[in-house]
Amino acid sequence: MDTPEPSPAEMPTTTAEARLWHSAASTMPFGIVLVDPEGHTLYRDVEAKFGAESLNQRILLDRAIATLLHDPAAHGDVERAVELFGPPRRTFLVRRTWLDDRGQLILVEDVSELRRLESVRRDFVANVSHELKTPVGAIVLLAEALAQEDEPTTAQRLVQRIVDEGDRLARLVSDLLDLSRIEEGSGVVLAEFDARSLVEAVRERFDETARRADLTLDALVPVTPTMVVGDRWQLESALSNLVDNAIKYSEPGGTVEISLDASDDTIVLAVRDEGIGIPARDRERIFERFYRVDAARSRATGGTGLGLSIVRHVVENHRGRLNVTSMEGVGSTFELRLPRGGPNDGR
Ligand code: ADP
Repeated sequence: MDTPEPSPAEMPTTTAEARLWHSAASTMPFGIVLVDPEGHTLYRDVEAKFGAESLNQRILLDRAIATLLHDPAAHGDVERAVELFGPPRRTFLVRRTWLDDRGQLILVEDVSELRRLESVRRDFVANVSHELKTPVGAIVLLAEALAQEDEPTTAQRLVQRIVDEGDRLARLVSDLLDLSRIEEGSGVVLAEFDARSLVEAVRERFDETARRADLTLDALVPVTPTMVVGDRWQLESALSNLVDNAIKYSEPGGTVEISLDASDDTIVLAVRDEGIGIPARDRERIFERFYRVDAARSRATGGTGLGLSIVRHVVENHRGRLNVTSMEGVGSTFELRLPRGGPNDGR
């Protein structure tokens, strides 16, 4: 039995079918152009989806569509990228599919976010490789020097430097693992606990480090239990990173203060220091991975450039807010405001 040749009759013919087709097509995240073999446009929905943002965008998309439709090249599928340098930067992919003898279909897709993510990933891989390469390279050189060293004091010094570089590698890998675990927002483990115990644990953890840096480390907490719902491990990691920074970027003799305040629906964890401060122009960027104001100082004090990205993600996971106030030469305060009932409260 002959299968009937699918004919243009499959195109919507009645008003009801046409309306159905239009509303189905308008929900698709693509711009669509359908053209019959004679080049008549049967359906076009591009401008409503992507044309309103700028005249330039409209013109460039229109031109790409026209070029592909009139492409004398084979009857195969062809595509072309349309780049708008913005800001914001936008990238569209315009694809033409040949529908045998029945016409041509153009699909326009906004791939800006995909391209942006690809570039973030590439930058991240490049940054990680660079960060790993430095200590690994140093360990190789130091080990080679050690192999040829007979003098015990120099050999001892080389060994210590290998240990230091190894520590740096271990810190970097551990921060990367923390970051990827925390970025995976679904892995948040919620429990109710007294936020005072969190402050106390972090203060204890940094007591010795602060003493060695000749800094006073204070903790100010309410006298009554301050219950909060959150991921204790993540919040401890965030607070530890802030205290670690406050110590690293302070001069001897200063004070670092961790404080906890609470209202009915919010707790505020703050870390204040009297250190070097952060220039206003860098304040927006310090939460990016590997961004450092002074790379040499960060590295010299064991920084990985990942601490504040971890803090930002923890706050996002808790649907909280993060504030920074800072003045160069005077000090900085980082403040985390978290809903007491946890991230799912009221949703
Ligand atoms: P790092 O490991 O380099 O400390 P972070 O992500 O924790 O990385 O911080 C990013 C940068 O922000 C630091 O390199 C430093 O320049 C700046 N910074 C962070 N906290 C402070 C602070 N308390 N005082 C001054 N500068 C800070």
